[in-house]
Amino acid sequence: MENIIKDIDIIAPVEAQACDFKTTGDENTGKSKKLYIESYGCQMNFSDSEIVASIMKENGYDTTSDFEEADVIFLNTCSIREKAELTVRKRLSQFNSLKKSKPEMTIGVLGCMAERLKEKLLEEEKIVDVVVGPDAYRDLPNLISSAEDGHKGVNTFLSREETYADISPVRLNSNGVSAFISIMRGCDNMCSFCVVPFTRGRERSRDPYSIVEEAKDLFVKGYKEVTLLGQNVDSYKWSPEENNKARLNKKEEEVSAVINFAHLLEMVAKVSPQLRVRFSTSHPKDITDEVLFTMKKYDNICKYIHLPVQSGNSRVLEMMNRTYDREWYLERVSKIREILGLECGISSDMIAGFCTETEEEHQDTLTLMDIVQYDFSYMFFYSERPGTLAAKKYKDDIPLIIKKRRLAEIIEKQNAISLKRNNLDVGKIQEILIEGTSKRSEEQLKGRNSANKVVIIPNHQFDKGDYVKVKITDCSAATLFGEVVS
Ligand code: SAM
Ligand code: SF4
Repeated sequence: MENIIKDIDIIAPVEAQACDFKTTGDENTGKSKKLYIESYGCQMNFSDSEIVASIMKENGYDTTSDFEEADVIFLNTCSIREKAELTVRKRLSQFNSLKKSKPEMTIGVLGCMAERLKEKLLEEEKIVDVVVGPDAYRDLPNLISSAEDGHKGVNTFLSREETYADISPVRLNSNGVSAFISIMRGCDNMCSFCVVPFTRGRERSRDPYSIVEEAKDLFVKGYKEVTLLGQNVDSYKWSPEENNKARLNKKEEEVSAVINFAHLLEMVAKVSPQLRVRFSTSHPKDITDEVLFTMKKYDNICKYIHLPVQSGNSRVLEMMNRTYDREWYLERVSKIREILGLECGISSDMIAGFCTETEEEHQDTLTLMDIVQYDFSYMFFYSERPGTLAAKKYKDDIPLIIKKRRLAEIIEKQNAISLKRNNLDVGKIQEILIEGTSKRSEEQLKGRNSANKVVIIPNHQFDKGDYVKVKITDCSAATLFGEVVS
């Protein structure tokens, strides 16, 4: 099965993870109608495409990796930076000639860009037939059927409860080893630079028992690793009576039970010691000691935390409305080191050149990186997004050339730190989970250690999904190299 990944504007020293473009694979069961989906942006979008594929499958559509044979093409979009939206518009223009030769084909824009632009998208992009926001995917079959009758449609209703808990995702592009499980939707934080609260709505947590069932089902099917996904997983909070975070906070006294993220993590870890558990993303204001101790308690909870800092300067963090400062962040990192040790992987997201950021404040980001010693980071320059708090309140006053220079300095620093961190692994024995052959050579296998680092080993007789003990012998800034320990 094909797995196409293209970076949009992410700069990361290891395999792109936070901002990819992926297509569907073949899920051909012989039915007549064919669906082709491309997912842009974060892992959550990719996970949403699996939900969309499941809804469409129920309605007679099999997925295909060949857009030319598709009856329906969906682009599941991202709005996080301007460049992400431009990429989608360019992609739409590439479908123009196909649509001309096959006018009966339906083209849909899903996800954050759909939610942000609504009807405007139909006006601006003539080849688009349906525009559907992240909470309206159950309506896709209706909208597609109307589009087939010549009626274009938009549904960007944002729900306060929808979690798609009952939908069993169709796994797309799966390596058969690792899968994503969406545990919550939306975000109640109002980071001033971010469009997500406007495109994905209020925070809701999914029924934990449906999450555990999904993890069990994956394990039975041979999967060995699940990643629990949410914009802010540490904020997960569910009760049988209420799954909406804001409403639950108001009536916590009245509900029969509350399950938080540490409880959920433990429930999933108990599915099997052979099932690795990862999660993303952690917000520095919400990650608790309880979560860290739960990670320590279970060997199968991977020792890796994605803890985006965004900036190392407290004034900038306040303007970003991140609700923590430099000291708070560094205290959380110290706690991670104290409870989980030096080997726990930590990664970050960083934004260079946010409104009014001075050279000294930019230096604070660099010094914070020196202190934390991130294993890797996703690094961006600030891109003003219409409708966000920052766009309303602050001037986007750092010239592009300066934003890019600061970003280059952050990347250079990260590459040096990544190499240093990887060098610390050389000589160590680690357990890796085999994901398949290496992209570069059939003679090598690719696995991942607990800290989420890719480890390349010579191709022995191992299968995907095997746990293998290796000794790390060498490294680059992006990859570890090892040999099997007999
Ligand atoms: N919920 C996650 C958190 O709070 O860390 C982040 C989710 S967001 C989809 C991924 C990353 O995109 C953010 O951490 C931030 O670094 C980056 N990002 C978001 N808005 C941005 C903007 N307007 N310009 C540049 N980068 C942005
Ligand atoms: Fe955006 Fe902040 Fe929510 Fe992350 S926590 S999705 S950066 S608003």
